[in-house]
Amino acid sequence: ETEAIYCIGCGAEIQTQHPGEIGYTPQSALDKGLESGEVYCQRCFRLRHYNEIQPVALTDDDFLRLLNELGQKDALIVNVVDIFDFNGSIIPGLHRFVGNNPVLLVGNKVDILPKSLKRGKMTQWMRERAHEAGLRPVDVLLTSAKKPQEMTELLEAIEKYREGRDVYVVGVTNVGKSTLINQIIKQTAGVQDLITTSRFPGTTLDKIEIPLEDGHFLIDTPGIIHREQMAHYLGVKDLKIIAPQKEVKPKVYQLNPEQTLFLGGLARFDFIKGKRSSFVTYVSNDVEIHRTKLINADAFYEKHVGGLLQPPRLDEVKDFPPLQRFEFSIKEKTDIVFAGLGWITITEPCVIAGWAPKGVSVLTRKALI
Ligand code: GDP
Repeated sequence: ETEAIYCIGCGAEIQTQHPGEIGYTPQSALDKGLESGEVYCQRCFRLRHYNEIQPVALTDDDFLRLLNELGQKDALIVNVVDIFDFNGSIIPGLHRFVGNNPVLLVGNKVDILPKSLKRGKMTQWMRERAHEAGLRPVDVLLTSAKKPQEMTELLEAIEKYREGRDVYVVGVTNVGKSTLINQIIKQTAGVQDLITTSRFPGTTLDKIEIPLEDGHFLIDTPGIIHREQMAHYLGVKDLKIIAPQKEVKPKVYQLNPEQTLFLGGLARFDFIKGKRSSFVTYVSNDVEIHRTKLINADAFYEKHVGGLLQPPRLDEVKDFPPLQRFEFSIKEKTDIVFAGLGWITITEPCVIAGWAPKGVSVLTRKALI
């Protein structure tokens, strides 16, 4: 039996037998890696050198196993969510798994929400949504893993609530957990970029332990892939377009009933019945929005998807799932959310429909802004 070797990118145990599974690396690459002292699994290697993602099999069972482990520990659980994709970030049933351990809820990517949004209002909204999901966090805070100056509050909160225990950082993929942990490492230990980060869901594969000063650890856990996120249906280039990199500029549309908005070729919003009123879109600034008459919308989509309506790009259209329709009757100020893409705030009672690629969820929630 040889001693296990771990990928320095994602922490997965290296294996040379099963391509397509976690930790695979070809024998020749392993030999080279051992020589240079830097062993990467093939996924991390490709990601680092070619900015290219390979799909990974992180099963729901593995994730359940991980969650079950959490309940057995005496630790602080830090649950990182993406505030731009809050609903897609919720870990179903997390409250049942954590046992008596405190949960610190951290809303990441605060840099992409409009600056006019008050932080207190935002954390209050997060707390309410967490309670609806059965989760009672000890505290809720906002951060941006891309901004070093945003880390201080988080690090202080972790110190305060961990009370000398280990810290487990959990989150679904793509919430920015790896970026956040890299940032923590930078600010605490000075070791940089030990963890793979990318724009693509599902890139952190195994637990990584970061030593804390008192002999305890901060542990990064793998995420679970939320399949209903838009990201899973798009190519690399499109992902760059839909994931906001900068502050999202809300756009206000005064719509008459029987008008339609297209969010690129990715989603569609129909204003079916109601008074003329304003609708505010919150999507990446790079996603173009087009307005048409509802009656022409089907034909418009058919004609322009992959062209005027992008993403998807023309060569992706044939593999892109057809848009599926969900109808809602709106009573009060509400967001209609297109998982992973963004949302539209509706201000007046009306009847609407939201369309997203088959498999991507469309839902309504109490308005955030
Ligand atoms: P993980 O799967 O949760 O580990 O997520 P990653 O750390 O790989 O990040 C996913 C994507 O979100 C990457 O494209 C990151 O650059 C981006 N990201 C992470 N944190 C932030 C943030 O605070 N703000 C913004 N705008 N993007 C972020």
